[in-house]
Amino acid sequence: MTGRVLVLGGTAEARRLAERLVAEGVDVLSSLAGRVADPVLPPGEVRIGGFGGTAGLVAALDGVAALVDATHPFAATMTAHAAAATAATGTPLLRLQRPGWTAQPGDDWRWVDSLEQAATAVAGARSVLLTTGRQGLAAFAGLSAHCVVRSVDPPEPPLPARATVVLARGPFGVEDERALMTAHGVDVVVTKDSGGPMTAAKLTAARELGVPVVLVRRPPLPEGVPVAATVEEAAAWVLRRSGTTRPPATPSRP
Ligand code: NAP
Repeated sequence: MTGRVLVLGGTAEARRLAERLVAEGVDVLSSLAGRVADPVLPPGEVRIGGFGGTAGLVAALDGVAALVDATHPFAATMTAHAAAATAATGTPLLRLQRPGWTAQPGDDWRWVDSLEQAATAVAGARSVLLTTGRQGLAAFAGLSAHCVVRSVDPPEPPLPARATVVLARGPFGVEDERALMTAHGVDVVVTKDSGGPMTAAKLTAARELGVPVVLVRRPPLPEGVPVAATVEEAAAWVLRRSGTTRPPATPSRP
């Protein structure tokens, strides 16, 4: 490929895509928001910090041959900026987003549209496992239930009045998740529909323990942006543009 590929990251998929592309000799610049204090860095060049809105991203696209937005399914602002900036510059854009989770027999899932709705849904619980990340915890600040708050870095106030903070970075195993829920008498789990295997063990543990799960639906994707569901699909999209490899299946549209 002539020119570099900018990968908007902050996910395991973004890191794996950078690994895959660097191994193919592609010039990759990965971008992280800088939210996590000690991020696991991908190979290739890495920049950290916001671009300064859509205008800043437009400027950063100078010399960029293609943009892959591999941010988290809930990083809706960055995804909107990627769509708007590439529309302005004409830079090819691919969204890499893992599929959401699907309920299995035995799951007791309740879908909501926002963290605020999730807080309302668990208002009557005794002990809540909150796995929604450290941003947006203010939505749960008014809960009187005991809340086990799990995040990679220490969450900032406001927190629920009776909070136990558990600092941990996935992937998590089913046995550990079951042990965590049992130790804290968790009677409901709250999660975003992040999808993927890294954090799915809590869903299995909840099913096994008969504990309900409140899931926050994903924000919608920008219209007209092609979507790859896997790292391989995204790598093929990039490599097809470089003309160095076999043509892949066309990524599906949202
Ligand atoms: P967001 O609300 O969509 O974005 C807020 C701002 O953060 C953006 O406008 C942008 O600042 C900056 N930003 C976000 N992702 C960036 C990236 N990859 N590189 C450079 N700047 C970035 O994002 P968020 O939900 O706060 O997530 C931040 C990061 O954490 C993302 O990279 C995402 O992949 C990762 N993450 C998010 C979640 C989640 O639940 N939201 C979970 C796991 C990981 P400017 O406007 O200044 O460019």
